[in-house]
Amino acid sequence: MRIPNENVGSLPRPMTLQDATQAYDEGSISHADLEAEQDAACRDSIERMEATGSPIVSDGEQRASSFATYPLADTLAGTGLADHLAPEGQFFAIFEDGHHRQLPKLTGGPFHYRTFASDYLKKSMPMATKPMKQAVIAPSMLWLLYPLDGEIEGYSREQFLDDICDECEKDIRQAFEAGAVRVSIDFTEGRLANKNDPRNPWTGRGLLQEFIDLNNRVINRFTPEERVNIGIHTCPGGDCDSVHSKDVDYALLLERMFEMNAGYFLIQCASEDDREYVYELCGKYSREDAEGVAQVCFMGVIDPLNPEVETPEYVRDELLAAAKHIPKERLGATDDCGFSPFSIDVKPKHGSPDFARDIAFQKIESRIKGAEMASRELS
Ligand SMILES: [Zn+2]
Repeated sequence: MRIPNENVGSLPRPMTLQDATQAYDEGSISHADLEAEQDAACRDSIERMEATGSPIVSDGEQRASSFATYPLADTLAGTGLADHLAPEGQFFAIFEDGHHRQLPKLTGGPFHYRTFASDYLKKSMPMATKPMKQAVIAPSMLWLLYPLDGEIEGYSREQFLDDICDECEKDIRQAFEAGAVRVSIDFTEGRLANKNDPRNPWTGRGLLQEFIDLNNRVINRFTPEERVNIGIHTCPGGDCDSVHSKDVDYALLLERMFEMNAGYFLIQCASEDDREYVYELCGKYSREDAEGVAQVCFMGVIDPLNPEVETPEYVRDELLAAAKHIPKERLGATDDCGFSPFSIDVKPKHGSPDFARDIAFQKIESRIKGAEMASRELS
């Protein structure tokens, strides 16, 4: 047997790219200049990820403003905002180190993506010699664009939810059409939905079930054969080497998360104090038959927020521990999160984004080697 490997998606953007993005926002360089920097960063990301031995690669989301805002704006500063959006909507998350990330706000309808993940993937596909994956954002994150209370005149919440489901479905289908072999849906708001943080009102509204049902509206539009390759990623956040919801009991999410009829899950775990508890919960709640697909649990064995590189032996031991609770044919290996979900991130615990890139590839290589060692022992 062979334990499958898959990364979540993002890598830190090189400092030159972060500087170029700022220069583009200030109007001192052209879009073509920015794109040249993005191309170079994507090429470097793909080549170096391929060199780790990873069977599947991504472009590190080097063109995306963030994992959540790529359909909405060209840059995190808000350059190139989609129609019917304005700056300064609600907080998506407030992180442990005190910084926060804010979404734009919806001012009317209909809502359409300005950019699909496939727009970026098409540019990166020719740079890869190995199969590529693509991450997309969940409709449950976009739910937060609509005002928490009340209705937008002329554009009901129901109309909006219909629109985001259609756009998300299109995002996934187009990524497959562009050549992705796997598409994972980022669902970092899942654990955060149980936080009840008074500074961030949506986290106190008990939205987890609504999020799960909304995401299933999209996932259920796909056949079992398609859903084998559609995943869900969960984490407690991973921005500027900080988290937003690691203090929330994981069980509150994990006992419900597998209700989503996805074929696989990319599950943060390496940074948990009690990893055995997480393996147990995943073994207990993941389903052998989720409307026609067996759910594969890719356990996070690498912590992208910590510059210390995990050894292959550590990875092996964690996967062997996980295999005591999760059937080995439904076990995979992943990282806890993308290495930099937001484009502007200097990776403070690492000292620089460029150093953090070097570390990221070493960590991925350890995961691949450790998974091979565990596969041999489980065979
Ligand atoms: Zn994540």
